[in-house]
Amino acid sequence: MTAESIEQRIQRAQSLRLKRMIWGFANHACTALAVIGLYLGGFLPMEPVLVFFASSLLCGTLLVLVLQFGINLRFKDPSMTMIQIIWPVIPSLYVMFFVALPQGRILFLLLATGGIMFGALALNRRQMLTIAWLFWLGYLGLVLVLGWLAPERIYWPLEAVTLFAYASVLSIVAYLGSFISELRHQLSIRNRELKHANVELVELATRDSLTSLPNRRTVMEQFEREVARSERQSPGPKALGISVLDIDHFKRINDTFGHQAGDEILRKVSRTIQATIRKGDYVGRIGGEEFLLIFPDTSPDHAVPAAERIRKAVEALRFDELPEGYRVTVSQGVTIHQVGETLQTTFKRADEALYQAKNSGRNQVLAA
Ligand code: GH3
Ligand code: MG
Ligand code: MG
Repeated sequence: MTAESIEQRIQRAQSLRLKRMIWGFANHACTALAVIGLYLGGFLPMEPVLVFFASSLLCGTLLVLVLQFGINLRFKDPSMTMIQIIWPVIPSLYVMFFVALPQGRILFLLLATGGIMFGALALNRRQMLTIAWLFWLGYLGLVLVLGWLAPERIYWPLEAVTLFAYASVLSIVAYLGSFISELRHQLSIRNRELKHANVELVELATRDSLTSLPNRRTVMEQFEREVARSERQSPGPKALGISVLDIDHFKRINDTFGHQAGDEILRKVSRTIQATIRKGDYVGRIGGEEFLLIFPDTSPDHAVPAAERIRKAVEALRFDELPEGYRVTVSQGVTIHQVGETLQTTFKRADEALYQAKNSGRNQVLAA
C-alpha cells in the first residue's frame, strides 16, 4: 500500500464521517423545529429557546472543527459515535425544563430515540445500553428536578408511566441497534476475508505452483495483449519477439537423479530466467519443462541475443542435486510476430525453430 493511497483512504473515511455527522445534525434539526413549534404555541419562553439554539450551534461547530482538523483521528473511535449521540441531549434537557406541559416534553423523548439509532452504525451492546441508560437517567433527573423546583408542572402518575414506557422503548432500541451493529461488524470481517481469499484464488489461478511463474493461460493471455499492443503502436508496429524454451534431456535428469531433483532444477532454472530477462519482458511456464518468453518492443537482432543471454545463464548454473560438472542446458526457438498473423502462427514458427535447435544438437538458440 502506498503512502498516497493511505492518505486517500483517510480522506474517504473522513468525508463519510462528515456525511454521518450531517445526518446527526438533521436529526437534531427536527428537535430544533419542535422547539420552535413549542415556542410559537406559547409553551416555551424566548430565553431558553435562544440558549438551545446557541448551545446547539456551538456544539455542532465544535464537532465539525474537530473533524476538519483531523483531531478525531487521535480518538479511540474516530467516528465519535458516542459523543455525537449524547451531545444533543444536553440542549434538549435544558429546554425541556422550561416546557409548560408534560406532552411537550414527551416529543423530545421520541426525537432522542431516533438519534440513538445512529449507534447501530458502530456501537456494541454495552455502549448502546450505556447510552439508553444515560438517556433514561437524564429524563428521570429532569423529572426529579422539576418535581423539586416546579412541582406544579409535574403530574406524578403520568411521569411514572412515561418513565416505564421510555425504559422499554430504549431497551428495545438498544438491543436491536446493537444487533444491527454486530451484523455490520461481522459483514465487514467476512468481506475482508473474502478479499484475501480472492487474492489467493487469483494467485492460484494465474501462477504455476512449482515455479511461481505465470502459468500457461496467463502467459498466453499476456502474449495476446502484447500482440494487440505492438500492432497499435505509432508510428508503426513495434517488433514483438518470443522464444519457446525447453530444457534439454530433462527426462534423463528425472530418471537419473529423481523427480525431486528435477523439481528443484525446474525452480532454479525458472528463477534464473526471471532474473535474466529485462524489465518489461515476460516469462511463463507453458508445460512441464517448457517456457514461453515474450520480448515486447524488441527488434529482430535483439531477441536472439536476449535468448542467448538466458541460455548462457542456465548453462552456468551449478546444482547441489547434480554431480560436479553436470550442466543443465536449454534450447530455444525465437521468432518475431508478423503484423496480421495469428498468435498461433507466431507460436508455431518459434516451436518449429525450437525443434530444429533440438535436432541440431541442443543447447542453442535458433531464429525463424
Ligand atoms: P528434449 O531435450 O528433447 O527436450 O528431451 P526431454 O527429456 O527434456 O523431453 P521430454 O519431453 O521427453 O521429457 C520431458 C520430461 O519433463 C518428462 C517429464 O517427466 C518431465 N517433467 C515434466 N514436468 C515436470 C515436473 O513438474 N517436474 C519434474 N521433475 N519433471 C517434469
Ligand atoms: Mg525437454
Ligand atoms: Mg518438452
